Amino acid sequence: MKIAIIGAGISGLSAAYYLDSLSKDENFDIEIDIFEKNGHAGGNISTKIENGFVIEEGADSFITSKPWGIDLCEKLGIEEQLISTNDSNRKTYIYFDQKLNELPEGFFLMAPSNIEAFEKSTFFSTEGKKRILKELELDPLIDDGDESLESFIVRRFGTELLEKVAQPLIGGIYTGDPAKLSVKAILPEFVDFEKQYGSIIKGISKKYGSSDISKTESGARYGLFVSFKNGLSVLISSIIKAMPDVNIHYNSSVNEVLKSTDTWLLHTESGCEIETDAVIMAGPSFVSSKLLSNTDKKLSGLLNEIRYESSIVVNLVFEKSKSADLPKGFGVVIPNTEKMNLIACSFSSHKFSNRAPKDYEIIRCFLGGAFNQNVLGLKDSEIMKLVLEDLNTLFNIESEPFNSFIYRYPNSMPQYTLGYNELLDKISEELRKYPLLSLSGNAYGGIGIPDSIKSGKDAAQYIFQNLVN
Ligand SMILES: Cc1cc2nc3c(=O)[nH]c(=O)nc-3n(C[C@H](O)[C@H](O)[C@H](O)COP(=O)(O)OP(=O)(O)OC[C@H]3O[C@@H](n4cnc5c(N)ncnc54)[C@H](O)[C@@H]3O)c2cc1C
Repeated sequence: MKIAIIGAGISGLSAAYYLDSLSKDENFDIEIDIFEKNGHAGGNISTKIENGFVIEEGADSFITSKPWGIDLCEKLGIEEQLISTNDSNRKTYIYFDQKLNELPEGFFLMAPSNIEAFEKSTFFSTEGKKRILKELELDPLIDDGDESLESFIVRRFGTELLEKVAQPLIGGIYTGDPAKLSVKAILPEFVDFEKQYGSIIKGISKKYGSSDISKTESGARYGLFVSFKNGLSVLISSIIKAMPDVNIHYNSSVNEVLKSTDTWLLHTESGCEIETDAVIMAGPSFVSSKLLSNTDKKLSGLLNEIRYESSIVVNLVFEKSKSADLPKGFGVVIPNTEKMNLIACSFSSHKFSNRAPKDYEIIRCFLGGAFNQNVLGLKDSEIMKLVLEDLNTLFNIESEPFNSFIYRYPNSMPQYTLGYNELLDKISEELRKYPLLSLSGNAYGGIGIPDSIKSGKDAAQYIFQNLVN
């Protein structure tokens, strides 16, 4: 039996890994071929190691409270190589009102859980604090329809929390616009808390207690976020090494997926036709939509409804002496109201040890997203100018960087917009027609690395079961 996987990002590789394991465990012979457009695997995960600097070109860590990343590392035997973030530096800043403000202690996502610390903080106005704490007394909204993240946050906590915390945090993670994103898809736990306890603050306290929320969130053995000493590409190379029987075809862009009577046909850009029993499509949903356009117009149309945003990651290396005002912490998020070019910055060499030789800092800057798509069209020199202007404003860095690396991520971040859960249901319904076709990737139910691994694993199990039966 033959299975083709389109895309060698973390979801496609995870699908291949779990399929390969299942076939060996169950003694069921399958041949797995991955077709990857680029000359390398990893998709949004790519580490460059140069002169003692570990530069993450895309993603830089993954969360341990979702188990699928750690589970895979344990299966691969690389869990001992995981490194946790330096939690003594664990502070997030919000640039608001032209200054750096510490996010008050005990915030759980975007709601306060430690009321005492929240009340002491000077980040919110007196009126803003009163409005946020009024959340404890507000009646819940009894309505099963979807709601935008913006409307939900303003309704429960008021506009100050939206502007100062929710929008910049969401901007930093989803590069999205809270007025368009679905609260049911992005903060389902908050929606449940409102239903179950009548209040998000009460729900957090009931579920997690109120003392140190960060400890309850993270896995017992690991910090909340982890990576590897040599960067996240270790995960990619380890998966590839663990499945020597899987064929990866690099520089093989697939441009059509057709259904024939009992099999599937893949056409590649270079003119090859591949016949296979099953297909896992692990590229972005708009790519899967295009590939399926001559096979199933309805499915193709539904997949095309998932919107994406673009972003740019700029890694800058500074001599420590020239970036002395960089605060101790993991990074800064910047609300849209500040009208800056950067949406967030993280301090790689504070977050993890051994990211840079001791006299240097690495600052990772993020631009683009829903509110600033124009930057994607700029030249490198223009992007650098904008970034350096902002770094000067934020941290008084006036000098040129010692080194810099710019990476563009066009249409790389799926947006879980209003009605997203219903759209996913419709896609699943349509897919049921094809027991040997599956979709995997960050467009379907979770944007982070552990979610992508889970989606690869789920696709592998689904296809394997249907092949065997
Ligand atoms: C800048 C950035 C920073 C991020 N930071 C983090 C982070 O720190 N932590 C975290 O958990 N998540 C992070 N994410 C999200 C996370 O990286 C992604 O969710 C995850 O890597 C998605 O994996 P994927 O395999 O679904 O997709 P991708 O990584 O996009 O892989 C899809 C693959 O399909 C290939 N492909 C596309 N079209 C075709 C075709 N026609 N034929 C063949 N191959 C094709 C692509 O070349 C690519 O290799 C970040 C994302 C971005 C963009």
